[in-house]
Amino acid sequence: MKTFSKHPAPSERLERVSCPVCGGRGIRPFWDLGDFSFSRCADCGHVYQNPRPRPSDLALRYDNEYLDYEVRNAEAYLRLMLLGLGDLGFEAIEAALPSGRRFLDVGCATGALVEHAVRRGWEAEGVEVCGPAAEYGRRVRGVPIRTGTLQDAAFPEGRFDFVHSSHLIEHLPEPGEFLAEVFRVLKPGGYCATVTPNRDGLQARLFGGGWRSVIADHVHLFSRSGLLRLIRARGFTPLRTVTWGGIALGLAPASVKALLDHSAKAFGFGDVVAVLARKPISVTKLVKRQARRRIGAV
Ligand SMILES: [Zn+2]
Repeated sequence: MKTFSKHPAPSERLERVSCPVCGGRGIRPFWDLGDFSFSRCADCGHVYQNPRPRPSDLALRYDNEYLDYEVRNAEAYLRLMLLGLGDLGFEAIEAALPSGRRFLDVGCATGALVEHAVRRGWEAEGVEVCGPAAEYGRRVRGVPIRTGTLQDAAFPEGRFDFVHSSHLIEHLPEPGEFLAEVFRVLKPGGYCATVTPNRDGLQARLFGGGWRSVIADHVHLFSRSGLLRLIRARGFTPLRTVTWGGIALGLAPASVKALLDHSAKAFGFGDVVAVLARKPISVTKLVKRQARRRIGAV
């Protein structure tokens, strides 16, 4: 499937930033694509655009063209998101939660996953920075979608049981701040599922700067370890990591693709990585729970 991306507008201005994974400021050139380029952090190896376009300029790229792309691919993307959630054990989590459980999809595009969650009994809502896509979701699917970033939505602390984001974090200028906000809006014990292209995957290794995820709209390209480090640094406990996708459709005969897809998932070199992480239950609750167990054991 083709990945949608805009070319940088000539009016965009660049700024230098420090590494979001380790805070380091040293960089080495990595991939030069002409009108944008990626650097590699000299300290932790994270690959990201540095210098990068200013966040306000990046936000302007998500317009009507992006809406058309999302509408065309909504069914296919929903199918992939559900497969990913399945691999992360979503159904078991869902079954264990009481009624009134709350689901949030950040970067929800036209809200296909939000609509799916509502049908499964969740109180679900979405956040989408592309105004036309959010408006389409509200009008056509009838689901609640807030236009803007997660931070713009300013949800109350501890509102959600499950926060999902698929192919979002690599677009965000400040992925660490995003994860901190996900942590804040989750209930204690709540879950966070993060899906992003895998720079450790077979396709990234095979194609280098020609990898399909090396596009102007991806300001970060995470390795599995870099993503896990960022997630841990924001207080989460990672529970499960999966990767999938051995080779893109059309790049190999069907039998080879099937074999590579199977091996990629089994051995962790898939093209996409997904991490399920949990916000710890508060220390107070943990102590109370342990005390109850002790009393029960007497
Ligand atoms: Zn770094």
